[in-house]
Amino acid sequence: MNTYSYAIGKKIYVNLTNRCSNACDFCVRVNDSYSDYSLWLDKEPTAEEVINSFSALDLESAEEVVFCGYGEPIYKIDEIIAISEYLHKKGKKTRLNTNGQGELIIGTDVSKRLSGVIDTVSISLNAASAKAYQDICHSEFGEKAFYSLLEFAKNCKNYVPRVILSIVDVVGAEEIKKAQEIADELGIELRVRAYIA
Ligand code: SF4
Repeated sequence: MNTYSYAIGKKIYVNLTNRCSNACDFCVRVNDSYSDYSLWLDKEPTAEEVINSFSALDLESAEEVVFCGYGEPIYKIDEIIAISEYLHKKGKKTRLNTNGQGELIIGTDVSKRLSGVIDTVSISLNAASAKAYQDICHSEFGEKAFYSLLEFAKNCKNYVPRVILSIVDVVGAEEIKKAQEIADELGIELRVRAYIA
């Protein structure tokens, strides 16, 4: 099994790191829902190793390549940029799935660095308040993680063509309604995701 990239339908998913600043209650790293894919990395791949791993997949037919993985991809921003440049030369669309804490993890210019390389950024909002977020996601940065992700989402609008906030459906209708208000205020699309147990 290729642990650096894998295909589901017409999408290819790239797995860059196990590291994450969160420890979400619903995380597949904890629940191990994707154990068949053996996504736990013994070593973080280089950009070249990820690009080489595409040869085992049908990159030609892929509609989008998504940086997600077991952990938080933004730790590997240099690799994301190098791989995305390669993918754009091949005419492929790129998406980054992130917890939105990049400004706390690697610095305030992170959204700018995504300019021209990432076509869609999907940020996990997960809750409608800093306290609720921290109760679910247990960020190492505490409640400021929530405010930072909102700031990151706002900044991404200047650099990334499509920005999405996402929330899992298990948080309940009231939390989803409040999340929608936050998204509307920021002028960002909200996607309600089904919880994968
Ligand atoms: S942000 Fe994503 S990778 Fe990190 S703990 Fe939460 S669900 Fe897991």
